Amino acid sequence: MDPKIKVIYTGGTIGMIKSEAGYYIPSSIDYLLSFVPSIDKIGVNLTFESFEKPLDSAFIGPKEWLQIAGVIVADLDNFDGFVVLHGTDTLAYTSSALSFLLKGVSKPIVLTGAQIPISEKGTDGIKNFTNAIKVAKDGLVNEVSLCFYKNLFSGACVTKTDSISLDGFTSPNHPILAKLGNEIEYTEISKKSGDCGSIFEKINDSVFYLSISPVFNSSSIIEFLDHDSIKGIVLSVFGSGTLPIKVDDPLYNKLSEMKIPILVVSECLKGGVEIGKYEAGTVLSELNVISGGKMTKEAAITKLMIGLANFNSEKDIRKYLTENQVGEL
Ligand code: ASP
Repeated sequence: MDPKIKVIYTGGTIGMIKSEAGYYIPSSIDYLLSFVPSIDKIGVNLTFESFEKPLDSAFIGPKEWLQIAGVIVADLDNFDGFVVLHGTDTLAYTSSALSFLLKGVSKPIVLTGAQIPISEKGTDGIKNFTNAIKVAKDGLVNEVSLCFYKNLFSGACVTKTDSISLDGFTSPNHPILAKLGNEIEYTEISKKSGDCGSIFEKINDSVFYLSISPVFNSSSIIEFLDHDSIKGIVLSVFGSGTLPIKVDDPLYNKLSEMKIPILVVSECLKGGVEIGKYEAGTVLSELNVISGGKMTKEAAITKLMIGLANFNSEKDIRKYLTENQVGEL
C-alpha cells in the first residue's frame, strides 16, 4: 500500500499569480496542482486540504500555526506523513512553532515553498514540492523539517537568508538532515523516535522582540516595554553576548523590575551566545537572562511563546526554555 500523505496548502509564492495591479497574490490549490500533474505518480496516496483563503505568509502567525497543527493532530492516525506548502517569508517561524507544538508527533511533517511561482519559468516550486513528498514518503525523518532547494533542514534550526536565490534557507548552527539531489541522501536520521514529548495546543503571543543596535535610546524602549501585556522578551544582542547598557542604565532597572523571562540570542547568524564572556555583557548575568545558545531568533520567539502558554511557574518556564526540546540549542 502506498503511504498516505496529507498536503496542507496555506498560500505563498509557490501558488501565487500576478494581479492586474502588478503584484503577486495567492491563488487556489487547484491552480497550483494544475502545474504538477505528475505529483501523485511518486507512489503515494495524496489528500489535499487548503486554507479557505490562502495567505501571503506575512499574514501567518500564532493563530495559523495552531490551525496547521490542529489539522495535523486531527488526522494523525489517518496519514503516514504531512506536507505543508507555505510562503517563504515567515516559513522559518512556522517551522519552528510547529516543531515545538508537535514535539510529540513521530511522523514526517515536511514544510516547503518556493521563491518563484509554480506557473513561472525557472520555478523551484515543482522540485521543492516533489522533494517534500518524497521525504514524507520515506518516513525516515519523523519530525518537523523544512525541505528547500538542495537541503532538508531540522524545523527549529532554520532561517531565511536569501530573499531571491533559490537557495533561500540556512540552518547556520546545525547540520542538514539530508542532501536533496536525484536521490535523497539522509545524513542525520531523526534523533527522535517513539513518544518523545508533548503536543501543545496553546501559544502566548505576549512576547516582545528587542534587537540591540549602537543607536540605542533607552527611554523610548522603556516606553514600549511599559505594557502589562508583555510576558516575555527575546533580546537579540551583539556577538556572543554584549550590549550597550550597564547596570546604571534606566533600561536595566526597567528590565529587572519586569521580572519576566528574557531569552537572549545573538544577532550573528552563526555561533550563538555565551553569557558572561565579556564585561560588556555583565548586565545580562545581573538580569539572570536565559541563554538562547545557538537558537535562531525564530526558534527563540516561538519557543518562548509556547513555553509561556504551557507552563505555569517561573521555574517550569525557565526549565523548558533552558532545555533542548527539538535540537534547537
Ligand atoms: N511573500 C511570499 C510569502 O511569504 C514570499 C514567498 O512565498 O516566497 O508568502
